[in-house]
This record gives sequence, C-alpha cells and structure tokens, in this order.
Amino acid sequence: MPPSNTFHLDLHIAGASRPASDGTRSEVHSPHDGSVVGSVPKASAADLDSAVEAAHIAFQTWSRLTAYEREKVIRKATAFVRTQADSIGLAMALEQGKPLAQSRSEIGGACDLIDYYAAEAPRIEGWTNPTEDRNYRSWVHWQPVGVCGLITPWNYPVSLLSWKLGPALATGCTVVVKPTTVTPLSPLAFCQALTHGGIPAGVINVVTGSGSILGEALIRHPKVAKIAMTGSTATGKRILELAGPLLKKVSLELGGQCPAIVCADADLDLAAKTIAYKGWRNCGQSCSSVNRVYAHTSIHDALADKLKALAESMSLGDGISQPNVDLGPMATPDGPTTAQAHVDDAIHLGARLITGGQRPAGDAFARGHYYQPTLLTTCPPQARVMREETFGPVIGMARFESIEEAISLANDTAYGLVAYLFTRDFTTTARASEALDAGTVCVNHGAVNTAYGPYAGWKDSGYGVELSRRAVYEYLKPKHVKVALS
Ligand code: NAD
Repeated sequence: MPPSNTFHLDLHIAGASRPASDGTRSEVHSPHDGSVVGSVPKASAADLDSAVEAAHIAFQTWSRLTAYEREKVIRKATAFVRTQADSIGLAMALEQGKPLAQSRSEIGGACDLIDYYAAEAPRIEGWTNPTEDRNYRSWVHWQPVGVCGLITPWNYPVSLLSWKLGPALATGCTVVVKPTTVTPLSPLAFCQALTHGGIPAGVINVVTGSGSILGEALIRHPKVAKIAMTGSTATGKRILELAGPLLKKVSLELGGQCPAIVCADADLDLAAKTIAYKGWRNCGQSCSSVNRVYAHTSIHDALADKLKALAESMSLGDGISQPNVDLGPMATPDGPTTAQAHVDDAIHLGARLITGGQRPAGDAFARGHYYQPTLLTTCPPQARVMREETFGPVIGMARFESIEEAISLANDTAYGLVAYLFTRDFTTTARASEALDAGTVCVNHGAVNTAYGPYAGWKDSGYGVELSRRAVYEYLKPKHVKVALS
C-alpha cells in the first residue's frame, strides 16, 4: 500500500486535533488485504470529558444563533466538505472495503442530507393556543436538547452519521460523535472537514474507542442529553437499558431482515434488478438489504433465473485499484463467516444453492473478506437466511400462492424495517402496504432512503425516527409558555 493511502488521525475536540491523553492508539486494517490503512487514538475517560465539555461550551453560542444564521454556516461548511470528497472517500474505501466510486458518492450524499436539514431549521414552527381565560396568553416553541452523543456503525460510516448530524446541527445541538472501531477514519475526517469549513469549534467533536467502554461512558455522561445510534438490535437494547433510567432522549436505527414480495403481475426485470441491487450491493451490509424474496409460484423460476444472471455478472475486487468494481470485500472477517453459516444452514434444511455460496477463489481474494453474491431457493421459513439478519450478500427465496400467505411470511420475523413489493395492481399495493409490519414499504423500487421520508424501524428494528422533517423533533424539546396578563 503506498504511504499516501494511510490515514493517521487524532481526536477532534474543541476544533483541534489531539492524541489520546494516555497516548494509546489502535490500528485500522484493510478488509482487502489486512494491511494497516490508518490509526486513531483510544480516547480515555479524560478525553471524553474534554469532548463533552467542549460541546457543552459551544452549545451556549451555537444554540443561540438564529436558524437562518445556522443554515448559512452549515451550507458553507458542506460546500467545503464536498471539495474534500476524494480524500474522505478514499479513507472510507480503505477501511470499509466499499469501492472508491461508491465511497466518494457517499460523501456528497451526506452533504446533501445535512443541507436538507439546514434548510429545515427556519421551518420549525411553534404555535399559540386559545386560552380558557382572556387574561392568559399561551404559546409553544421548541428548544434544542443540548449535547448529543452520536454512535455510528461501519456499513455506511458517513451517511448514517449525516442522518444524525443534520438535524442535530440544524436545531442548535452540539455533538460528540463516537464512530465504530471498524471504520473510524472517514467519519473523523468528515467531521474535521466540517469544522474546517466553518462549523464553530466545539460544535462537532469526535472521540474514538470501543462501544462497550467509551460508548457506554458517553451514554452515562451527565452532560449528554440525548443519544442517537445506528447499529445492531442487541446494542440498541443495551443503550436503552443504560439511557432509560437516566431519562435521556434516545433514537435508534437497528437491524433489519427485509422481505421482497414479487407478485405474478410484477415487472420481473425491474424486480430482479432492484432485488439484486438491494440484496448484494455493499455486500448486503445494509439494514435495508433484501435478505429474503417471496415470489408467486407462477413467476418464481423466471425471477430466480434473472437473479442468477445478475449475480454472475457482478464484478468483485479491490475497490481502490478498481474504483468502479461492483463489490469489494466485506468490512469485517465475521462477514463471510456469517454468510457461509446462513448458506450452510439453508442447504442443510433443504434449500437449493443457485449461485455463489462460497468465498471467491484466486490469489486476488486470498487475504480479503470476500464473499460471492449468493442466491438460494426453496428456503424453509425456519432457515436462518429467512429469519436472521445475514448482513452479507446472500438472498433466500421461497414461493407463495396467495398474497395473504406472502404477507404473513414477510411479517413473521422480529424485525420491521423495510418491505419491498413488486406488483402492477393498485389494490394489492394499497392492501399489502397497509398489512406489512414495516416502517417503510417500497413498491416497485429500491430507493429506500430519501431526505423527505421518515425512516422508523418497527418492532426490533428501531426506536424513534430518522430522516424527514419529523427527525428534528428527536433533537428538540417543547416549551409551553403561559402568561397571565396584569
Ligand atoms: P454494532 O451494534 O456492533 O455497533 C454500532 C455502534 O455502537 C458502534 O459505534 C459500536 O462501537 C457501538 N457500541 C457497541 N456496543 C455499545 C455499547 N454497549 N454502548 C454504546 N455503544 C456501543 O453495529 P455494527 O456492527 O457497527 O453495524 C451493523 C448493524 O447496524 C446491523 O445490525 C445493521 O442492521 C444496523 N444498521 C441499522 C441501520 C438502520 O438505519 N436501521 C442502518 C445501518 C446499519
């Protein structure tokens, strides 16, 4: 790896870079070949205190700017970050494995999302109330909650940070970010660039370290008013256990096990392309990945053939030297192991392996966490691939006879994040979308996450809302002012 392809970054506190107070660091490794691609400090309790204190001090001024002033500052900062997209995208591709072109575009998308919220800041409305007595006046307005702890995962390291940073910054909150240890470099570089671009010192701080020690300390910190986290359901439940007794505001975007229902009347080319994109892109490491497909028995085999052809046309490789490759390595060594376990389990239970089902052969893949895009058919409902989050490039398929049966199968998991439906019939669209237990239903497309659509995981998939105008209220508290006139 050439030396320019390494990022040795420091903590980002009060607008400056600094090492950990005890000088310790941890390395970040390439999922392609295991080489060291960077390092970050292991923040101590004292570093966390400094970061929270910096955010607390900055809150006094940032929250008092007008929404219009904050909008201008934020837009200027994102304009600067866009000029740094190549370098931040490179950091992401190196640490996460996502091909360079996809990594770079994630930076631009994150800036767009933060801009959406900057524009939302001046649109946060209060209201006045008619009162029971003509000598009372009553109005309600919203105030920022204070310092927010933002805890983020590795699959979309910058995008999922922007979902939290956008509404936090727009509403006047200040933040301490704790990225995952797997991909700390790109979120750290992104936050540094925002500060460089003009977000005042202390508004955005970043500490790096483990979830169980640093993450839990962030949640417990008395000056942290709110926690927003994206990650696994198990971690989300642990966060609620810690934050609940402290009465902190919490929003969580958690795991998914997303079904796609393909009806007999569906546009099969569209369904196949969308399912392939949603199931295999980013190696299936997305909460909204299509993990399982229920296909009407009359079109099942035709759909399986199309998916097989799409899987076999996908290119795999190192996304740095081949920036436009379809799939890079998975981010962690656990990725291919879990994918293989789900494939083996399904085959053991009677599923048919249609394509993939193993790590790719060859020297180019020997040291990386690669896994082939995989399709299994005849998967029984109890197979892990049909119930648990694979978080890998594996799709399980099964047949259905009636739409009622398909909906019942789709709803039969603990998760409720996204459901996909392919049909040309409006009545099926309306009835099925109402009956599906998911916070988001996509009909005839896979463009799940848009700034304007609320993203709220149902059941084990979340708590609270991200995205859309609604998300700003996760960072605000209402104040009722009632005045008795003299
Ligand atoms: P993870 O739960 O292991 O970690 C997420 C973050 O939580 C990391 O920063 C980690 O350090 C931190 N953490 C871990 N234990 C903690 C603790 N006890 N206290 C405080 N913080 C702690 O998740 P991951 O493996 O990084 O990400 C993959 C998971 O994220 C998948 O389950 C995926 O579905 C989910 N995800 C959900 C969405 C969504 O919007 N619903 C989006 C992307 C990913």
